[in-house]
Amino acid sequence: SVSHEIKTPLTSIQGYAQAILDGTVRSKKEIQKAANVILIETNRLHRLMLDLLTLARLEAGTDDMQVEIVSVKAMLQNMIDKFSILADQNEVSLTLDEIPDVFVQGDGDRLAQVFSNILDNALKFTPAAGKVEITAAVGENTVLIQIKDDGIGIALDEHEKIFERFYQVDSAKKYGKKKGFGLGLAIAREIVQSHHGRIWVEKNPDKGSIFSVELPIFMNKRYQQ
Ligand code: ADP
Repeated sequence: SVSHEIKTPLTSIQGYAQAILDGTVRSKKEIQKAANVILIETNRLHRLMLDLLTLARLEAGTDDMQVEIVSVKAMLQNMIDKFSILADQNEVSLTLDEIPDVFVQGDGDRLAQVFSNILDNALKFTPAAGKVEITAAVGENTVLIQIKDDGIGIALDEHEKIFERFYQVDSAKKYGKKKGFGLGLAIAREIVQSHHGRIWVEKNPDKGSIFSVELPIFMNKRYQQ
């Protein structure tokens, strides 16, 4: 799988670079188009390399985990700040519910990546005029964070598979506004599990999907309300 993901962009980069060099593409417009493809494919390879590095690090264990006390509310508010421009561009409404003041213990950057990956997908697979909603609810010892979209949805028999490495639903490949590698949710699952949590997807009763992340709450009186 990795070699296929690398080969395709590389072939494309080689082809376009060669075409510029041997003069097959000549006009300024053609050269710009070729350079643009080279840039897009190089960026893709860069993203792939970063994702593979992240997975390798996660697999190697939790040694380099920066453990801190993370505010769920602040983390999710940061997500809204990060994704609101993209949501506006896509004409999708992105909302954050009232979030309880709870804390989790773990690596803040890694946990942020979990929600980044889920939100990135939610916005990618939700057409214009759709909505993406983030909610959080406190259980006995856990906090349940949910990201609900009313996008294209995921067939029931794909609900487990999408968390596997390199797995992409066929229809999603064609949908491809920004083609992924099928690594985002595999990374998210590794991170959640390393924080003793759970991640899963369900069908949204209306339309689309609901991604749930359940994490243990950090129990320390000092940090509680
Ligand atoms: P990718 O980089 O391809 O998005 P992910 O691991 O993040 O990889 O997701 C795997 C696949 O799960 C996606 O390719 C897509 O088919 C499906 N998927 C993930 N999130 C959603 C969603 N919110 N709506 C519909 N399909 C989704």
